[in-house]
Amino acid sequence: MTKTEKLLRELIALPSVNPAFLPANDPNSGEKRVAEFLAAIAARSGLDAEFRQVQPTRANLIASYRPTTKAKRRIILAPHMDTVGAPGAVFTPQLKGNRLYGRGACDTKGSVAAMLSALIEVIASRDRPRQTEVVFAGLIDEESLQAGSRALAASKFKADLAIVGEPTRCKVVTAHKGAVWLKLETQGKAAHAARPELGVNAAYEMARICTLLETEYTSRLGRTKHPLLGHGTINVGAIHAGQQPNIVPDRCTALIDRRTLPGETNASIIRELRTLFGAHGLSAAFSKIHPYPCPALETDPANPLVRQFMTFTRRRTPGAVNFFSDAAVLAAGGIPSVLFGPGDIAQAHTRDEWIELSQLEQAKGFLVRFLQSLE
Ligand SMILES: [Zn+2]
Repeated sequence: MTKTEKLLRELIALPSVNPAFLPANDPNSGEKRVAEFLAAIAARSGLDAEFRQVQPTRANLIASYRPTTKAKRRIILAPHMDTVGAPGAVFTPQLKGNRLYGRGACDTKGSVAAMLSALIEVIASRDRPRQTEVVFAGLIDEESLQAGSRALAASKFKADLAIVGEPTRCKVVTAHKGAVWLKLETQGKAAHAARPELGVNAAYEMARICTLLETEYTSRLGRTKHPLLGHGTINVGAIHAGQQPNIVPDRCTALIDRRTLPGETNASIIRELRTLFGAHGLSAAFSKIHPYPCPALETDPANPLVRQFMTFTRRRTPGAVNFFSDAAVLAAGGIPSVLFGPGDIAQAHTRDEWIELSQLEQAKGFLVRFLQSLE
């Protein structure tokens, strides 16, 4: 068994389900056990390990390799330590053929194991970088509100490149969409259903808005294409109006999810929709649902470090994915960020999550060669 596989097995056996998905005080909740376990390994291997507290019982792990001469650049390896929960989650690693099963195997303990193993191997080798600081950042809370990456970005932690661990099948990913969640509310006037003409039905107004979103707005979104991400999308996810059949509802709410392209923001989406509704004589009040912005990720594939990393992954072109990640948060904080990791997102969050061991070893190998190529 390789060191990377052994580490991954140990990580799966330490549950670190995001507390957002479990009742308070559930024994499987929180990243603390994993963070402490990794910190001990990092310290034994010669890394400077420290915890940076984010919430009362939750801390990011920052484990740094510092060269003896002054560092000219800093690279961050940033996988998240939390997992989703889901009933029946398996915390005992099980090998079947080339697949290792268990919660977090691919999302994203596989990346944790590959990244930390790679860093430890590199600093023990003759080819360790002499002028590059490499930081392993085990982040908390990616699966919920990204408190870990938000805290790291807010602390003004700077780096020349962050490689954020997510299952990308060892492809370097430079772009993903963002998400804007909004609540729309239309106002009407209540009346008895026997005299509906005396009221204004807020549900009818919302129905016209939904039709507009499905037709004109959707075709408009289809006309703006990003080379890697395609076009933005809109979904009406929930609608609620009224209490009973015999009252004209005076209020209707809808929850919408708009997947965004780089450059689009909460404010720009609200502006765009307001103008569209206004042009059709419709109106709605808008409120935000997300407590934080979730912008799209777009990192320049021509960035020299991104290109250098890509050459070691045997691919010439960067990839794009359709899920949100810590990379967008770090990028918004000024750190050029890409996604990279072993495994396939198709197995993430599933009941029988697994990772191919060949992916795990490949990811570690690519990282080792990239880190050894740095000055
Ligand atoms: Zn993940």
